[in-house]
Amino acid sequence: SLMRNLIVLGAAVLLLIGAFVFMFLTAQRERELAQRQADFLANVTHELKTPLSVILAAGENLSDGRIDNKNRLKSYGSHIFNESLRLRKMIDRLLDVAKSGNSRVHTDQRRIYPIDFISNYLDTKKTYFETNNVEVAFNSEKDIPPIDIDPGHFHSILDNLTENAVKYSPDEKYIGIALTSDGKSVRLSIEDRGAGIPKNAQKYIFDKFFRVEETYTANTKGHGLGLSIVKDLVHRNHGSINVKSVPNKGTVFTVSFPVAQSHDGNGTTETSET
Ligand code: ADP
Repeated sequence: SLMRNLIVLGAAVLLLIGAFVFMFLTAQRERELAQRQADFLANVTHELKTPLSVILAAGENLSDGRIDNKNRLKSYGSHIFNESLRLRKMIDRLLDVAKSGNSRVHTDQRRIYPIDFISNYLDTKKTYFETNNVEVAFNSEKDIPPIDIDPGHFHSILDNLTENAVKYSPDEKYIGIALTSDGKSVRLSIEDRGAGIPKNAQKYIFDKFFRVEETYTANTKGHGLGLSIVKDLVHRNHGSINVKSVPNKGTVFTVSFPVAQSHDGNGTTETSET
């Protein structure tokens, strides 16, 4: 009947519109991604050039051998040193980006004791926490078994998550770090009381170049790469990661790694049963 044909036609039209809207949104997301990628490259090139030109200028002045003023020599030296450190940090980050997603990149797993590793890490960040007014609380169960993980990767994971916790906390800068274990895996959680992440954005935050488009994130610097690197490093070391977040309340990232194989919990080694 005519009525039926009309309904079918209507449904088909609706479906078509739906498909177009979907294609449009997908294309838009891809365009945004490409734009972010281009911005990232432009920024990185710029950021690499700044320390490099300081080093070049200092090196040029030193190399003609005419500076005999001790203080000036010292200041050139410290310029070169500090800017080289900055360069190295940037290059390390870039390498992390380049490596992420490349499964042939090798991981150098060592047996580490999470309580010691994290305590050491927090010690090295002491000045950073003090200058940024961050309150840090580290709580751990008593006997946390070791895990097998690339120490450099574990360091990057901690660094990215704690620096995000600080960066996305406009008011109260607090980081709660907790370690627990059920004997099979070790769980590390990093909690903040910051801006939080809107529900609809939570599934994208581990994607390359994704940043939440809220006013608060918009005012911070970043390329949306940190969490994609973290996720990749966690997976490379056979772990898992998830997030719980409430906007304007805070965020908890939980990372979990299997307990080192052939570790029986008493500090002795024996062949595992599985
Ligand atoms: P970046 O910090 O460079 O933007 P990330 O990949 O580290 O990139 O994070 C992606 C996005 O996830 C951030 O832009 C931010 O919107 C959100 N985000 C990450 N960590 C937090 C956090 N602790 N609290 C609130 N938002 C966060």
